[in-house]
Amino acid sequence: MAAEALAALVVDLQARGLRVEVPLERRIGGAGPSDSGMLWVGGFPLTVPTDNAAAADSPYALRAEDDGYAIFEGDRRLAGASTQQRPRFYDLSTADGTPYWKIGLMHLDSFASTVVQTCAYWGNDDQCRFCGIGVSLDSGRTIVKKSPEQLAEVALAAKELDGAVDATLTTGSSNGVDRGARYVARCGHAVREATALPVEVQFEPPRKLEVIDEVADLGIDSVGIHVESFDPDVLARVAPAKARTGIDQYFRAWERAVARFGEGQVSTYVILGMGEDPEITVEGCRRAIDIGVFPFVVPIRPVAGSLMADVVPPDRLYTERIYRKVAAHMAKRGMGSDIAKAGCARCQACSGLQSVQALLQIGKPPAQTSHAG
Ligand code: SF4
Repeated sequence: MAAEALAALVVDLQARGLRVEVPLERRIGGAGPSDSGMLWVGGFPLTVPTDNAAAADSPYALRAEDDGYAIFEGDRRLAGASTQQRPRFYDLSTADGTPYWKIGLMHLDSFASTVVQTCAYWGNDDQCRFCGIGVSLDSGRTIVKKSPEQLAEVALAAKELDGAVDATLTTGSSNGVDRGARYVARCGHAVREATALPVEVQFEPPRKLEVIDEVADLGIDSVGIHVESFDPDVLARVAPAKARTGIDQYFRAWERAVARFGEGQVSTYVILGMGEDPEITVEGCRRAIDIGVFPFVVPIRPVAGSLMADVVPPDRLYTERIYRKVAAHMAKRGMGSDIAKAGCARCQACSGLQSVQALLQIGKPPAQTSHAG
């Protein structure tokens, strides 16, 4: 498959999802790449919706071949694919009988965990509408709080048995001045000490920005401080607590973090498809890149059980246009897509940005496919 067509397929798969006709390791519910299959398509790591309404109607299907797997559209074979095997550490349990998979999961080659599975905003008017953090807890697929020791034990098994190359730890927000940053950083520190893997921790901007220095002092490699949208109207509608924090406060937190963690080691999710103004979105990404923040641009992934479960993800042409503008500015500023040491921006499987950066000549118009929306 030609490079440009492959990039278009990667972006379109994330928009339209994949019907799965073979067993596939999936992530159901939760705060990360939820209701998604994890696979490699044409060599690119990808999380792709497999369990939402869009995926059920997707033109794309994953099928087995004599030697591996491939993506098909009807009878037409589009690209080779490989799938994630069930990680071996999932069969282990801690001494107190907790299965390792309730403590952490493999997201392709990254060990990932939500260290505190509750959020001060969950279940009230402040709940982020796209989020599913309470869903996995309700279903019994995880435990409410993981200890640093548990995480260190499981992360080591993920490295040794399944080749994890980094760890990504996130947390629900708390009402404390640190908003949960101190605890997730302690967990990250324990994982790093036990495994020597690079670690990303994710948290909301602390009320006291000095907390960011405490996180850095624990030897954490990268941080994710996620504004989710640069459009203030969208933020007010979908994430009221984040809107109250205010986009400028995110910039203040990022500046402090870049000073300690370095360029490209601070990232923010930027979710597309929530009704945002594309110009405001691109401009926000530009401003973030200019201060050294990696804008991790992703299409919305409607999570079953979230308040946006029925949202239709944006079409490929929309996301690709924004990817191109953001990628162009990153290139101009010398920020490579491989700059992050750990976390979502290192893995990149939830975004098509990397495929657009790697495969498309920036400036060329998006390729038309038969299903471009
Ligand atoms: S802050 Fe929002 S996105 Fe993060 S865990 Fe809480 S509700 Fe979910």
